[in-house]
Amino acid sequence: MIRLAIQAKGRLSEESTQLLSECGLSVDQSKRKLLARCEDFPLEIIYLRDDDIPGAVSTGVADAGIVGMNEVVEKEYELNIIHKMGFGKCRISLALPKGEEYSGIEWFSGRRVATSYPVILEKFFRERQVKVDIHQIAGSVEVAPSVGMADAIFDIVSSGGTLISNGLKEVERVFFSEAVFVTNRNLSKDKEMIIKQLVSRFQPVERSRGMKYLLMNLPSDMVERVSTILPGMRSPTIMPLAQKGWCSMHIVVKESEIWPKLETLKSLGAEGILILSLEKMML
Ligand code: ATP
Ligand code: MG
Repeated sequence: MIRLAIQAKGRLSEESTQLLSECGLSVDQSKRKLLARCEDFPLEIIYLRDDDIPGAVSTGVADAGIVGMNEVVEKEYELNIIHKMGFGKCRISLALPKGEEYSGIEWFSGRRVATSYPVILEKFFRERQVKVDIHQIAGSVEVAPSVGMADAIFDIVSSGGTLISNGLKEVERVFFSEAVFVTNRNLSKDKEMIIKQLVSRFQPVERSRGMKYLLMNLPSDMVERVSTILPGMRSPTIMPLAQKGWCSMHIVVKESEIWPKLETLKSLGAEGILILSLEKMML
């Protein structure tokens, strides 16, 4: 049995839980307990605040965890990072009030910067030999300049909308993060084995992300041209239609590749185009 820590409530919790359920690992969450047992896999889930996950895994309270790389680096615990999850992508950036003129990193010399990530920020400025005054605050970092608590901030950005609405502009992108799967460094062979099995379940689900199963009817003499536009995996599956000279073509393809090619497909005579969702790609 292994114990996996995931975020109880927040930006990583939904995707972490959803991934587990897509891997066939159903967890009884009905009572929102701190601990929940998985039905058909030797797995127990512990729900924690994201800040507490690196510590819980490094001390062995949990054997593994899904947490932002930003928290792993900030907390400086010894952990093994064994898988990048592909979600929770964000960056931590330096931002200033938008009216300030920014000439380069020297701007920060002697200034006060508010952040919840003092370790990452301190390292950034130390490497660049700029002396700044770092103010650690736990939340609402983006309002610090407007209330006179700091000259600038160092905070998480995804689209930048929050910065703009607080009258700030991003000037340096310092740290890029995504959710990672971390493990304790001293696991027993048994637990390592279970973790290996668990992580190998993630891959088929991850491989199918953004992929679709595309079907269309096509004049048979257009198959080759369409295959060069949308090659699919090894090659398309072609099935004859009852009507002579026509076939049905099936391809696994990234959804983002379909849209720009739709008009061309139509002009080549494609009809009855269906896009089906794909659950897992095992190999
Ligand atoms: P907790 O209550 O668990 O301490 P929190 O408020 O500290 O939660 P969240 O805002 O839920 O944290 O973010 C959790 C993690 O999700 C962050 O540490 C980061 O790795 C990632 N993250 C944060 N903001 C974004 C964002 N805007 N887009 C994508 N990922 C983000
Ligand atoms: Mg937190």
